[in-house]
Amino acid sequence: MGKSCYFDNAATSFPKAPGVAEAMTNYLTQVGSNVGRGDYQSAYAAAERVLEVREKLCRRFGAPDPRNVIFTPGSTYGLNAVLKGVLRPGDKVAASPMEHNAVLRPLTQLEQAGVEIVWLPCSHTGELLLDQAAELLTPDLKLCVLTHASNVCGTRMPIEAVGRLCRERGILFCVDAAQSAGFVPLDMGPMEIDALAMPAHKGLLGPQGLGVLLLTDAMAEAMEPLVSGGTGSRSDLLEMPPFLPDRLEPGTLNLPGIYGLGAALDWWEGQDQAALRHREERLTGHLIARLAEYEEDGLRVLGTRDEKKQVGVVSVDFLEKDNAECAYRLERDFGIQTRCGLHCAPLAHKTLGTYPQGTVRFSVGPFTRFEDIDYVQGAVAEILCG
Ligand code: PMP
Repeated sequence: MGKSCYFDNAATSFPKAPGVAEAMTNYLTQVGSNVGRGDYQSAYAAAERVLEVREKLCRRFGAPDPRNVIFTPGSTYGLNAVLKGVLRPGDKVAASPMEHNAVLRPLTQLEQAGVEIVWLPCSHTGELLLDQAAELLTPDLKLCVLTHASNVCGTRMPIEAVGRLCRERGILFCVDAAQSAGFVPLDMGPMEIDALAMPAHKGLLGPQGLGVLLLTDAMAEAMEPLVSGGTGSRSDLLEMPPFLPDRLEPGTLNLPGIYGLGAALDWWEGQDQAALRHREERLTGHLIARLAEYEEDGLRVLGTRDEKKQVGVVSVDFLEKDNAECAYRLERDFGIQTRCGLHCAPLAHKTLGTYPQGTVRFSVGPFTRFEDIDYVQGAVAEILCG
């Protein structure tokens, strides 16, 4: 196989943090026991590690208590659990058009069942129009759900400002942190976030098939369990146990995944996180600047084009070419792996003016090198002008 240059960290990060694969193998080969279902040493050891990982997540993201850290199969599940757990026919919910289908599709199902959606408007760079949003966030809303950063163009949302408005007006606030958890600091307390959903497998550099949902007590109390089943606790009850995390966490946990995520969090804790964040910002700025050089040659760079206002996700539209063909050539001729299309966010493309053609998306990670971006520039130049 020839050169391979991974620019699809927004879909899933690669490589993973050092130690993740080893921790998962260690669980599968050396530990192996379930949690809360066995009275023997290895089951206690696994339970202890699961608690440690909950505590790490609680500290890192400012959840009120480790019990309020719910393991899920992914952010899609966590978002569904919140939306379908809280909203009932007749309720009103606010959302932006920049949301991923992990939000749009459950909202559409809920709308068909009689929930009203209030759309918070965004500009053609994907930025929330805060003044207009503030007028629409009225106290009769039950919930507001917002992505922290767009998975199409990387634009960040003003989470703190929206959180403040929601708290003042008694609206529960749910944030989709799929594209921000990892690099971007997140603290549920000062950001007034009631539910924070994230996957293990993107910016946190952990494995696929695992996510985390962090909740305030108010949000947890407002939620009916999306799925119910065994918890290993209060087996006498035919309802879910009344306490967290069990009430919202049925079934056997993804223990290899939790061990892997634990190793990823250990790795993050050993890093200078401000330096990593700064480097990601500089990489993003470098990528935007290199791609923007070709605007006169028919390349449109979407979003704010300001690395301080976005995460490391940069989308382009090859105006006079077929985007799918360009993505195919990037991989075939240069080994550059990108993602092409609508990226599961159709309304974002309507907002950005790239519907239905979609975009070619480049997304960086902590292991992307500056010279990889220069290599991308050369490849794009050849496709455009060669
Ligand atoms: N929200 C956003 C903004 C995303 O980018 C993604 C993943 N593409 C999701 C939600 C869903 O994440 P997962 O597939 O890990 O459930």
